[in-house]
Amino acid sequence: MSGPVSPIDVAPASAGPPVPPPGAPSPVAAGPELEVVEGRTADVGGIPVRRVLPRRIRRTIGAWCFVDHLGPVAISPSSPVAVGPHPHTGLATVTWLLRGRQVHRDSLGSEQVLRPGELNLMSAGHGVAHAEESENYQGELHGVQLWVAQPEHTRHGPPAFAHHADLPVARFGATEATVLLGDFDGNVSPARTDTALVGVDLALRSGGTVLPLRRDFEHGLVVLTGSVEVGAQVLRPGRLGYLGAGHDELSLRADESARVLLLGGEPLGDELVMWWNFVARSRAEIDAARADWQAGADRFGAVATTARRIPAPEQPWVTG
Ligand code: MN
Repeated sequence: MSGPVSPIDVAPASAGPPVPPPGAPSPVAAGPELEVVEGRTADVGGIPVRRVLPRRIRRTIGAWCFVDHLGPVAISPSSPVAVGPHPHTGLATVTWLLRGRQVHRDSLGSEQVLRPGELNLMSAGHGVAHAEESENYQGELHGVQLWVAQPEHTRHGPPAFAHHADLPVARFGATEATVLLGDFDGNVSPARTDTALVGVDLALRSGGTVLPLRRDFEHGLVVLTGSVEVGAQVLRPGRLGYLGAGHDELSLRADESARVLLLGGEPLGDELVMWWNFVARSRAEIDAARADWQAGADRFGAVATTARRIPAPEQPWVTG
């Protein structure tokens, strides 16, 4: 389900703060602090997805650096989701389904069926390859894939994969909060984190909810179903709500049931270079990873699937 990052999402290898391109939507102030950032539609294996991160005007939330929201879309063996083997470096993929089923295979030898309520977490480190396929599943598919940028102390290290079927659930009024990653108000996910961050799936019912926040985290809201109000602003699928650090709590209101991801983390000091399926700190690192993938180097290994291996496109900074 992972979609590659293109120059439409972020300028590759830019230095300094992001500059919105001409005509790009500006952040909309909502109340005193919430910014609303419009996502865009991207294509992943022939399926349209809502990409709300990265955007040129908002590249990261803590170490969260990529959010693709797929579906709900009807899937069948004749119109499957089939993302063939492709590489990653320097990031962890976080895959979470609301509906449907997906099979993950990677170059570590993992083969894992993913169902709603379960978490797949693959840390790429120096390099890993994986494939994600709906195979013989028939029905609705609805889910998200997120990337977390790995810090210096793990991004050059070995890859890893973990599946977590038992995640902590906390209640805040009528809202059910499933903790995917990190510690949310003392409810700690068993999943690995390399930096201080949090990821929570919120199932809201009609009414208001107040959620505790860590003051040192910046936060983002991604609506998966329904809509929620934050102050005067309405969030719905396809938009990112962004809240800078310095808040103890967040008030949300839903008119009917809604599902919302809350993402948070310590603002990232690093300047990431993201291109295609790689997260790095320089073009040279990207160039090396791409060359290794194109050469079939051991760095990425092999994935046991019949799905077609995905070749890397040409880097936009390479001419001739
Ligand atoms: Mn991927």
